Amino acid sequence: MRLARKLVLAVVIGILLVVVAYDYSAVRNDIRDAETRIADDVATRGYGLSVTLSQVVRDSGSEAAEALIARRNQGDRVTIRWVALDVPPTDKRAVDLSPESVNELRQGRPVRIVRGSGRGARLVVYRPFVGQKPVHDLAEASESLDPIQEHQRRRIAGVAVESGVILALAIGAALVLGYRLVGRPVQALAAQARRIGGGDLSQRLELGGHDELSELATEMNIMSERLAGARDRLQAESSAKLKAVEQLRHADRVATVGRLASGVAHELGTPLNVVSGHGSMIAGASEAREEDRESARVIVEQAARMAAIIRQLLDFARRDRARLESGELTSVVDRTVTMLGSLAAQRGVEIRVAPAADVTPVRMDQAQLQQVVANLVLNAIQAMPKGGPVDIELGAVRCTPPKDASGERDCLRLTIADQGTGIAPEDLPHIFEPFFTTKDVGEGTGLGLSVCQGIIEEHGGWIAVDSVVGTGSRFSVYLPAVAERGGESTA
Ligand code: ADP
Repeated sequence: MRLARKLVLAVVIGILLVVVAYDYSAVRNDIRDAETRIADDVATRGYGLSVTLSQVVRDSGSEAAEALIARRNQGDRVTIRWVALDVPPTDKRAVDLSPESVNELRQGRPVRIVRGSGRGARLVVYRPFVGQKPVHDLAEASESLDPIQEHQRRRIAGVAVESGVILALAIGAALVLGYRLVGRPVQALAAQARRIGGGDLSQRLELGGHDELSELATEMNIMSERLAGARDRLQAESSAKLKAVEQLRHADRVATVGRLASGVAHELGTPLNVVSGHGSMIAGASEAREEDRESARVIVEQAARMAAIIRQLLDFARRDRARLESGELTSVVDRTVTMLGSLAAQRGVEIRVAPAADVTPVRMDQAQLQQVVANLVLNAIQAMPKGGPVDIELGAVRCTPPKDASGERDCLRLTIADQGTGIAPEDLPHIFEPFFTTKDVGEGTGLGLSVCQGIIEEHGGWIAVDSVVGTGSRFSVYLPAVAERGGESTA
């Protein structure tokens, strides 16, 4: 059974008991009052009668007394009679009394009894005639109890109706109040507990008021907040742990691959130099046939390409620590553009460097940053097989590091944008992974961006990428600006 209903039932039963007890005692008192009144009435009449009758009998004889009785009985609710003890039962004055009552009367004391039951019952009082010894004549005064019983029936009916009305009102009030004060808040608390149990910690419960239930709601809200905080902390901790484990595994893999790459590069370096040297000799030998010289040139060209790949492998494997010095990136960009100018022109690519308005100094390793710019520009050129523009822009910006909650800072941003193939959304999360490449064998090693990222991170910066397939890609390199005083990096 629901709590509100139980409370309503308890309240109603309580009210019912009080009403019934009150009415019962009221009816009883009423009846007792009525009985007392009748008894007093009858007793008074009985006493007066016993005095009067004894005088009239003494002074004027029994006929006068009978006439007096007949007169008195006219129109009076108390009926009076003259009866006597010790007369045969056939005598008109004979009276049926218990031995105890007779005994009481002989002692000169009045006797009160009820004759009959239910409808027609009467209250009768007997009194001995005054001054008669031994007692023989008695005055009998009686009154019907029917009015009392009628009154009793009416009172009981009235009490039943009154109790019914009070009960109905009490049930109504208890239901309304029970639902408003207990049922509804308890239902809301139960729903909130179910939500919390189901893991929804976002909802808060407002019950209003200052009772125990609203206190419970407040405590539940505090508990939800604490649980949500603990859950967030747990999630953050476990995702940080996962990330750390992932980084460790990644670093381990990269180190292994790096060692392997460095070993292979070393082993291949010397024979490749020999191949390249001999190829150059044949290509330059005037006595060799023209087609042999052409083949030798191809050998030298491919050996140079292999050497470049080996250099990249070595870069990736044992990159020297950056030697940071304060400087301007503009000159690095210009040098790299000049270096790649002829290659770009061959591929129909125009490298456009926007005039830099506001270039803040950064702390950098010039050689390493040149490597970064070269890699990014080369990728841009390779992304436009039919040629097109590569736009380079440098400028001071306010930036927010992606892995750092320390807020905004001053940065230098280098953007290199092409209008090439773009990067497929499914490839985008992987382009900085070592050995990830979408290029043909011999075209790419998949090391360029991973080396760039390593260098930029060592400079305290990061690389962001926007790319739309078929439209082009924009690589933005962010480097922390040098603080105005002290020449230190703000990173
Ligand atoms: P590689 O150039 O040797 O493949 P990178 O690490 O430099 O290695 O690049 C990884 C991959 O990222 C490339 O294979 C290519 O799919 C993608 N990528 C990099 N730069 C660009 C760009 N500008 N446009 C389109 N794709 C690019």
